[in-house]
Amino acid sequence: MATMITEECINCGACEPECPNTAIYAGGVEWELFGEKHPPISNDFYYIVPEKCTECVGHHDQEQCAVVCPVDCCVPDPNHVETEEVLFARAVKLNPELAGLELTAANSKFHK
Ligand code: SF4
Ligand code: SF4
Repeated sequence: MATMITEECINCGACEPECPNTAIYAGGVEWELFGEKHPPISNDFYYIVPEKCTECVGHHDQEQCAVVCPVDCCVPDPNHVETEEVLFARAVKLNPELAGLELTAANSKFHK
């Protein structure tokens, strides 16, 4: 996982289109992975699906949801710390075109 949305979310929706992995959903909306639908993780606030969040590794040097959130409620989840290797493997699974990509300061926050 690692990025989570706290209850300070004001449901503005700014983060959802910024996620390169479609890991963000509005409260009450079912999430989807490889064609399978799953029950919402939150009914009240926007939420991030841990199985789809890569902390933007492979795409951006910062978590894009956190960059746009007006109330800074997209934060690292201290209970789900993951390595760059694990996050990038997830990114490749979700976006096969990333296979073989070199991780640099431009596409991974781990290289800053
Ligand atoms: S950190 Fe990146 S991958 Fe994770 S939910 Fe936010 S925008 Fe999506
Ligand atoms: S940008 Fe922030 S406040 Fe807006 S929906 Fe996303 S998490 Fe909630």
